[in-house]
Formats: sequence, structure tokens, C-alpha cells
Amino acid sequence: MTLTVLNPATEKPIAELDQAGVEETDEAVSRARAVSPAWRAVAPADRARLLRRLAALVEEHTEELARIESRNVGKPISGARGEVGMVAQVFHFYAGAVDKHYGSTIPVAGGVAGTFREPLGVVGLIVPWNFPLNIASWKIGPALACGNAVVLKPAELTPLSALRLAELALEAGIPEGVLNVLVGKGSVVGQRLIEHPDVAKIGFTGSTEVGRLVMQGAAGTIKRVTLELGGKSANVVFADADLERAAATAPYAVFDNAGQDCCARSRILVQRSAYDRFLELLVESTGKVVVGDPEEDATEMGPLVSAAHRELVASFVEDEPLFRGPAPDAPGFWYPCTLVEATNDDRIAREEVFGPVAAVIPFEDEAEAVRIANDTPYGLSGSIWTRDGARALRVARALETGVLSVNSNSSVRVQTPFGGFKQSGFGRELGMQALDGYSEVKSVFISTEEG
Ligand code: NAD
Repeated sequence: MTLTVLNPATEKPIAELDQAGVEETDEAVSRARAVSPAWRAVAPADRARLLRRLAALVEEHTEELARIESRNVGKPISGARGEVGMVAQVFHFYAGAVDKHYGSTIPVAGGVAGTFREPLGVVGLIVPWNFPLNIASWKIGPALACGNAVVLKPAELTPLSALRLAELALEAGIPEGVLNVLVGKGSVVGQRLIEHPDVAKIGFTGSTEVGRLVMQGAAGTIKRVTLELGGKSANVVFADADLERAAATAPYAVFDNAGQDCCARSRILVQRSAYDRFLELLVESTGKVVVGDPEEDATEMGPLVSAAHRELVASFVEDEPLFRGPAPDAPGFWYPCTLVEATNDDRIAREEVFGPVAAVIPFEDEAEAVRIANDTPYGLSGSIWTRDGARALRVARALETGVLSVNSNSSVRVQTPFGGFKQSGFGRELGMQALDGYSEVKSVFISTEEG
């Protein structure tokens, strides 16, 4: 069965692709398995060189890859260029890490004990549609660096950039069969990868709902899993903060990628004594977000990824919102920037909307801010805005979340570990920690006793 891929900004088809089924999935796993011994035997410096070449090719093809991503996801071209830039950085980082992730020697009686880092073998990588190439690279980089062969399944809606990346990997000299990309359904290809006895690990990014299925399916073969799941992160603004800066940046912490961002700070918590002033500033800055044609350099927010997703997002806004921005009256899955006043018990504050809708929630003091911020099943990211350094550190330690920023809304850096607490998942991507998720520790003892 073929798959029609749409441009969400025009609703027009941009590609027709064949979809893999169980048979093709098994073939890809066999290809990866066959090449795996040779790939793990490639000298570390040579594997590093291949990854560096891939990074360079991604850089050379920035504009092409960014256009593919922009047309397939509906994301603004300027942001897409930045994302491709990060993909190249990720491959550079893991090229540098190949020969810096090693075992140790351990003092024991009667001999020498030490550890080795071994690749897992074949790993299955399943990624979502919101940052298709970026999130794929966070998994491919450490997986290849550790000497694993990869079968990658991009989301059905957005397979195009991963297919192009696989071509560039071949051009870089990465042997055929080491990086396989399968276009197909989650319930078919994804499910088969999860259950396949020759797949050693699933690196999954997606919804908490499907994350649960991954865990269940992996139990049959005791597969390793890394789960990067949903979020409902808080942007906590204390009255002593630089309110102008916090309000000027808060919209981008929710509406970037049209809110289709696991790290979206979609609960804006504001201290009551500064609430009215902050709201005034927030409405003003939200009104300035430039919504429109993703291919224009000045555009800051494009459409949602699909009609079905727009329907879901719209279902969260039942009453008249505090503010609704403009959206093009044209084909495309548009949804405007929307601010809603809420309590933390409202559906909009409890569930991941994954669209450009922010819930604004007042709090009285530090203790209440921490209580509300932590009152969610998720724990992915968050921000704290205050001029009080001790408070920033106290609150940062108290929040149950994997990634935090103070007086900033940034979440992701190539060098630092990224991942969730609670139902936002477990395991870490990026930084040196990601390499732990794509290798096994082997402990070896060599006796020095005589006779
Ligand atoms: P999704 O869970 O629907 O799909 C993710 C991937 O899983 C897709 O490739 C899909 O085809 C596949 N899949 C679906 N059903 C499957 C099944 N039964 N078995 C195996 N694979 C299956 O998520 P989505 O809608 O593509 O992405 C949005 C979600 O991803 C949001 O919840 C968001 O928070 C989350 N996300 C998390 C992170 C993170 O790093 N924590 C990053 C980006 C997105």
C-alpha cells in the first residue's frame, strides 16, 4: 500500500511512497544483522571519520534538508535550518565521542578486572513527526558511534528527511545495511521491530500512550528501551523576575513548532502579585508571533501537522480564550496562538495539547509554585524566572523534571543529557550519557595467579 505525504501548509501531496510491512521489516533487520559484525569491528578512528563525513554532508545539504523538513512538517524555514544545523552538530559530537567512551580497570584480588563497552547489535529507532530529522539524529549518532547497526522508522506523516539522510550516510561511506530506513505504520513496522528477537533495543520518542505499548512489547524479548515521551512543562515566573524578558520569550516557549514540541512550556505559572502586569505583556508579545507561509524567512509559526491533529488541538479550547492570534484564512492546517486562563485541574493544564495553546495559571508563593509545577504525571522540561539566585537553585532542585532552564527557555544542547522524569520517560539522549543507552558494559576478570 502506498503512503501519500502531504505539505501541511498547502494540504497538497508532495510524495507517494511504498510502505514496508512485516516482511520488509524482517529483511531490514536481517541486513542490519549481517553487516553488524563488520561494522562493530571498524576501528574507532575510522568510524569517527565516517560520522564526521556524514556531519559535513548534512552541513553541505542544509538548505535542501531544511526545505524537505519545512514542506513535510509545515515548520518555518528559519527554524528548520537551525534544526539541520543541530543534526550536523550531533554527528560531529558523536564522531568525537567514538574513542572517548571506554571501560575501566577495577582493583580486585587475584588478578585484573576491567570493563569493556560493547555495542548492542541491531537497534530499532522509532521517531515522531514533530522534529523528524533532529530526533532521529539524537539516536543514530550515539547508536552508530557505539558500533550498532540501525533500523529507523520515521513517523508516517514525515518520512522524507530520514530517507534523504540515509542516502547521505551511504555517500559518506557508511556501509550499506548499517543505517536502514523503513517507511511504514507504527502498528506494523514499529510493532515488528519491538517484538523482533534480533533487535536488541528500541530507542523510542513519541507519545506516552505508545511508549506504554513499547514497554509492554519489549518485555517479550527483554529488550532494552529508551523512552522519550510527552510533557506538560511549567514556565514559572516569579514577581521579582525580569517580567519584560520573561513575557517576550514565553510565547516562543509554547508556540515554536506550532506548539508541537515535547518541551513546550504550555503551563505558564505566574506569581499573583505580578499576574496582571505579566498578562498584559504576554498578550502583547503573543500578538507579535508571525504566523504564515513556512517558506518565508520571517515566519515564526506555521500550521499544525494534519487535519486530525488540528481537530484534537481545537477540542481543548472550549470557552472564549483570553487571547487568540491571527491565522491565515487559506488551505493549510492553521491554528492560531491561543492563551487560556486556567487552574491546574483543568483538562488544558493536565493533558499534552501539542498545539499553540498555553494555559496561564496564578500562584501565591514559592511553595505553591513548586506544588503546581509538580502536579502532573509528566516531567520533561521547564523554566524558572527570578532574579533571586538562591531561589532559582532551590526551585530547580525541587522540580521533578529532567531538563530545566533559569531565566531562559532553552531545553536542548548537544553536549547535555536530555530526557524525562515520571511519565515523560527514561533513559537519556544527547551528551555522553546517550552512549550508555547504546552499549552494554562487559566485565572481564583475568587471573594473575600462577600454577
Ligand atoms: P506517536 O507516539 O503517535 O508516534 C511516535 C512513533 O511511534 C511514530 O513513528 C509512530 O508511527 C510509532 N508508533 C505508533 N504506534 C505504534 C505502535 N503500536 N508500535 C510501535 N510504534 C508505533 O507520537 P507522535 O504523534 O508522532 O509524536 C508526538 C508525541 O511525541 C508527543 O506526545 C510528544 O510529546 C512526543 N515527543 C517526545 C519527545 C521527547 O524527547 N520526550 C520529543 C518529541 C516528541
